[in-house]
Amino acid sequence: MAYKFERKQRIAVIGGGPGGYEAALTGAQMGAEVTVVENVGVGGSAVLTDVVPSKTLIATAEAANAIGEAADLGVQFFVRGDSGRPVRPEVTVNLGAVNQRLLLLARQQSEDMKSQLIKAGVTVIHGGGRLDGPNRVIVSTGSAKTGTDFDEINADTIVVSVGASPRILPSAVPDGERIFTWKQLYTLTETPEHLIVVGSGVTGAEFASAFTALGSKVTLISSRDRVLPGEDADAARVIEDVFTRNGMTVLSKSRSESIVRTADGVVVTLSDGRTVEGSHCLMAVGSVPNTAGIGLEEAGVQLTESGHIRVNRVARTSMPSIYAAGDCSDFLPLASVASMQGRTAVFHAMGDAVNPTELRNVTSNIFTQPEIATVGWSQKEIEDGITRGAIYKLPLASNPRAKMMGIKDGFIKLFASTGSGTVIGGVIVAPRASELILPIAIAVEHRLTVDQVARAFAVYPSLSDSITDAARAMHIVH
Ligand SMILES: Cc1cc2nc3c(=O)[nH]c(=O)nc-3n(C[C@H](O)[C@H](O)[C@H](O)COP(=O)(O)OP(=O)(O)OC[C@H]3O[C@@H](n4cnc5c(N)ncnc54)[C@H](O)[C@@H]3O)c2cc1C
Repeated sequence: MAYKFERKQRIAVIGGGPGGYEAALTGAQMGAEVTVVENVGVGGSAVLTDVVPSKTLIATAEAANAIGEAADLGVQFFVRGDSGRPVRPEVTVNLGAVNQRLLLLARQQSEDMKSQLIKAGVTVIHGGGRLDGPNRVIVSTGSAKTGTDFDEINADTIVVSVGASPRILPSAVPDGERIFTWKQLYTLTETPEHLIVVGSGVTGAEFASAFTALGSKVTLISSRDRVLPGEDADAARVIEDVFTRNGMTVLSKSRSESIVRTADGVVVTLSDGRTVEGSHCLMAVGSVPNTAGIGLEEAGVQLTESGHIRVNRVARTSMPSIYAAGDCSDFLPLASVASMQGRTAVFHAMGDAVNPTELRNVTSNIFTQPEIATVGWSQKEIEDGITRGAIYKLPLASNPRAKMMGIKDGFIKLFASTGSGTVIGGVIVAPRASELILPIAIAVEHRLTVDQVARAFAVYPSLSDSITDAARAMHIVH
């Protein structure tokens, strides 16, 4: 039940990515007068340059992989040569066509989202927004006719959701031709002959995995001793094994010192003096929040040292009228979290019932092949004694459906509270782990016990059968 306001609440949203979009829709649904200021396109980086294009590219990579693996299941491809004898056809990827498709898809999704906002009664202004105190947003619309126009929006509540941009190192400035950020990759018309990926976090690992499947030789440079630092160690080990088995070179404990262009490629110099030559280089060394120069500090909003906006669990900043959602805040940089924060911010501002965001329950996925999905407490936290829990890991190799499908790698891991048997987390490494993790996420969110999970019927044969199997194995005999 929301507060009854004497007049319509006015909400101004800066940034139309998942955080801002969701905040705007929620505001409109609750009867507020909502204006969104967005300087590129509704959907934000998530739709136009990050999530949608990368996951669409990965869909093609999966299709290419499936063709490669179909032979293991007895599928044969051949054409008849001139002599009438069967010849093995070459499988290639037309990257120009792939990129055209994914950019079109992204643009269409952005347009769809803009239409949804307009249909809901939200005013969408194309322009850059900045704060002028705690209750006003100044918009520079920069119209071609009049130079830069300035509009102002007075608002009871402001939601800042300006996202983040790729971190640029002075020693490796992307040129969009040979050295790329992940936003620039979609101009490629041919698959790189040898792609060097600098950074082995989620973005680096996903692109390294995808371009290997698309046919590039890939070298992954990781400054840590393994890929995906911070993720479940068993999962990272599986992925690194798959990477190297598929021909990827993984250079661990290697820091790139500089990257320079040559006549027809790039040379990466590592801090120990070694050099790696490739045709192209992708820089995946993190992001910086887009919070500079938009009047945040002047309006009294506290930032962290890294420039992220400090928010509480209802996305409120240090200024009561200003909320922040998404990658510009100091929460988790995920589209799903941005949306949740946007929604929560508006519910809170308008006095509706709010469930503060519980980061522990956020489900996340790494779209490598196989995928890695995680939720809840981690094995490391259990082993470090931060929480008490039992750990059970079931390799997919023992799952009948996995055998039928020719799946060689992956596992399901469950964590349950010692004593009560409540499910407190889990990891799945499998094809489409992103789809399989939901029952574990529901168990974590609703504090189901392993016995309650085990009582659910899983389809036989199915990969999800391993979830109920693991839960069954964790039954505590009383
Ligand atoms: C390669 C890659 C893949 C990813 N894949 C996934 C995934 O699979 N799943 C997932 O959950 N997350 C994924 N993420 C993370 C996800 O993209 C972000 O968490 C999400 O985009 C955050 O949403 P947001 O609303 O905070 O910001 P954004 O999506 O960045 O949107 C912010 C918008 O604000 C605009 N803006 C900035 N400043 C201003 C201003 N002053 N005035 C007006 N407008 C402004 C920007 O132009 C942008 O359009 C991925 C990230 C990357 C880099």
